Amino acid sequence: MSIISPEKVFVQQLNLPVFSERKIQVSIVRLDLIHPFISGNKWFKLSGYIKDAAEKGYQKIATFGGAYSNHILATAAYCYDNSLKAVGFIRGEEPSDYSNILQEALKFNMQLVFLSREDYKNRNLSFLKEEYSDCYFIDEGGFGPLGITGIKDIFEWIPTETNFIVAACGTGTTLAGLIYSALLHQQIVGINVLKGYEAIVEDINSLFPSYFKPNKWEVFNDYHFGGYAKKTDSLIHFMNQLWDTNRLPTDFVYESKMMFGLIDLAEKGYFPQNSSVLAIHSGGLQGNYSLPKGLLHF
Ligand SMILES: *Cc1c(COP(=O)(O)O)cnc(C)c1O
Repeated sequence: MSIISPEKVFVQQLNLPVFSERKIQVSIVRLDLIHPFISGNKWFKLSGYIKDAAEKGYQKIATFGGAYSNHILATAAYCYDNSLKAVGFIRGEEPSDYSNILQEALKFNMQLVFLSREDYKNRNLSFLKEEYSDCYFIDEGGFGPLGITGIKDIFEWIPTETNFIVAACGTGTTLAGLIYSALLHQQIVGINVLKGYEAIVEDINSLFPSYFKPNKWEVFNDYHFGGYAKKTDSLIHFMNQLWDTNRLPTDFVYESKMMFGLIDLAEKGYFPQNSSVLAIHSGGLQGNYSLPKGLLHF
């Protein structure tokens, strides 16, 4: 039996005065409910790789990430679920206290290998691939053309009347998958949570097959709140407001910034009247455990 629960996913209607003023419908698909620790989008991103690995006869998957990487944990869980062995190459020396993510990854039997920052930087050089030649390698964050193929399964929950799909971007692989599988009347909007990563547009384009002609899509780079995993008091206040008004839990790394961007764009009139806007809640809530107790209302 699978450890994830797709049957818990649902589309939640969001109600805020700005949405009714602008005459737009806004809802969010709660992929976070797939698992308390495994980010929804990561699961879909991995499926193309795991299929490819199986076809090529690999029994062991290796990937890369930091000690707080949602991708590391999702890979551990996905492999566990598919009776594959997993190796996680973790950036930096072994910590004396393992993060939540690393503890959970161990429970899914992932072998953790800590790489110095120098070795991590050179991870794509041959030394690791020679030593771990029995492994199928997936790049950091699941970035790569195979990462976009499984995203189409998310469309199972996307109502067909949706004409804007909004998602947070880290590597942009999930956004690329949404662009790749969108229906003709659907525009895709990305909210970039990394600072100074304007090259994300080229990186996303590099994931498409050359024959592919995308619908209109766009990435907004001004909603990072200081950078990856950075937060401000106003962001925390915003997260509490979303919970108090709509019972929507968000994390401070991805989903709160995505929702802030979506609301700001709505206020600026980006979505035409009668638009049906769907946000993707890709999970990440476990990241909030690093915040002081009592800061959040949820
Ligand atoms: C990893 C992650 C993302 C970003 O996905 P990419 O495909 O790398 O752009 C978004 N939201 C959450 C919660 C994540 O963990």
